[in-house]
Amino acid sequence: MSVQKTGKIEEEQIKAAPHSLSEEQRLQNMDDSSPCPCHSGKAFKSCCKPYLTNESLPSHPEQLMRSRYTAFALKQFQYIADTHYSKLDPINNAETLQQDFQDIQWQHLRIISSQKSHHESLQDSDSEGEVSFIAYYAIQGKLFALSETSHFIKPDGKWLYDADHSQSKVEKIKLSRNDTCFCESGKKFKKCCDGKLAQIR
Ligand SMILES: [Zn+2]
Ligand SMILES: [Zn+2]
Repeated sequence: MSVQKTGKIEEEQIKAAPHSLSEEQRLQNMDDSSPCPCHSGKAFKSCCKPYLTNESLPSHPEQLMRSRYTAFALKQFQYIADTHYSKLDPINNAETLQQDFQDIQWQHLRIISSQKSHHESLQDSDSEGEVSFIAYYAIQGKLFALSETSHFIKPDGKWLYDADHSQSKVEKIKLSRNDTCFCESGKKFKKCCDGKLAQIR
């Protein structure tokens, strides 16, 4: 996942407060039984947590995609760096990611399609996969949608995000108060996430 930034966003990021918690503290603060940040509907402990803590490896590209979204949401930048692959831009370390993504607040993940839905049984021998999704995020209360088709590869038995073959675009989202909320709750924006975004405006 990468976010194309305008000059304005960068300017806003520089103004924002520095992080205060370490990556480990942030993970420890997460309640095991709370809903997973990837919006799967499962509890954190039975969804993305085992991947973030390296207890197990994602067995499917969608699991890796979801766990990377969760890692962005919980600011686990080492995990992002560890699961990122690029020949064109191999320098993708946790420090750089932290500078770029620290002040982004991830709001919602909507999976559009993943290989799983096309081929129900992904074979163990498969070494490529794709997941299309929209990730909504806010910067100082302004809402953006990142639409991406992520490409994943499994070069050495471990699924990795293949940045060189993933395509994304970013749009600024402007919702009226009576529009249906972006988070798929079915509620009107004003009765749903508008208030949450207003708090960080
Ligand atoms: Zn999850
Ligand atoms: Zn909402």
